[in-house]
Amino acid sequence: MATAPRDYYKTLGVPRTASADDIKKAFRRLARQYHPDLHTGAKKAEMEKKFKELNEAQEVLSDPDKRKKYDQYGTDWEQAQNFNNARQQAWTRGASGPWGFNQDSRSQGGGGSEHFSDFFESLFGNRGRRTGERDDLGTPGEDLETDVQLALREVLTGVTKRVTLREPQTCSTCVGSGSLRGRPCTTCHGSGTTTQHKTIEVRIPAGVQDGTRVRVAGKGQPGAYGGKRGDLYLHVSILSDPIFRRQGSDLHATLPVYPWEAALGAEVTAPTLTEPVKVKVPAGSKADSRLRLKGKGLPAATGGYGDLFLALQIVMPTVVSEEDRVLYERLSKQRHPDPRTDLLDTARRR
Ligand SMILES: [Zn+2]
Repeated sequence: MATAPRDYYKTLGVPRTASADDIKKAFRRLARQYHPDLHTGAKKAEMEKKFKELNEAQEVLSDPDKRKKYDQYGTDWEQAQNFNNARQQAWTRGASGPWGFNQDSRSQGGGGSEHFSDFFESLFGNRGRRTGERDDLGTPGEDLETDVQLALREVLTGVTKRVTLREPQTCSTCVGSGSLRGRPCTTCHGSGTTTQHKTIEVRIPAGVQDGTRVRVAGKGQPGAYGGKRGDLYLHVSILSDPIFRRQGSDLHATLPVYPWEAALGAEVTAPTLTEPVKVKVPAGSKADSRLRLKGKGLPAATGGYGDLFLALQIVMPTVVSEEDRVLYERLSKQRHPDPRTDLLDTARRR
């Protein structure tokens, strides 16, 4: 490994006189702090480096024989190289090395991650295998965030959505160290983690607002060393609806009516988020007057449901029959105030 020799004691933050137990404790504490799974972005790369250094220091100092050699040779590079070579020979001598693997002898020594892996597992268990035992030591997993789009109808009832998450997982080849015998792990390209796609079902409660963050407890990233999982946050956006406009828990829509329905009153069929309903247009309804359908809105935060407001839109029949024309003529002979009075007044005052 073409890196400068390091002071393994400094890396672990222990004195040269540290006991095996001190070293083990220091390593455990720092491994928890540096583990690349627990970091993102630029910090992750930094932590990967530190984690590898830690890993290397631990591997040497936790082995009484290696520690003795290290103490003897100091950090002199030549000696360290010899030491590495010697160790590598020890590794490759048997059909299966002392740590239960069988690698080709061209590998460069010095990484020591396999040994670390075993140590890691014996200390912390492999990802939840010993969770019960390690609850007090665990580091909670990071929270995940994802977007979810809902139709207005789904807001009414609440909905179960399938959400696909990209979840980083500790690389199973190198058990998170990023290297195998001093070479970058080919499975994870040295990052120590791989990405898995995971689909889960989450329940979105009824009445959710656009832009809400819904927390799904325990569906974030797995914790390390038995720590509990992070949470999943869903950013909810509500798709625009071709009929209904939402205002809090109330809904608004336009209801077309003929002039005689508005004038004489009528029972018409109006849409709701679920089934169409019969509504009464009162006699003498004006253009733009609103009908209120109580409880036909969305679930309200305060309990119950909002209302559905239907704004009347007076429309003309598209086809005018001879009989219609006669009736219009009769209407036109009636005295009505000029419907443009207000418009003309406003235009004058401009
Ligand atoms: Zn790997």
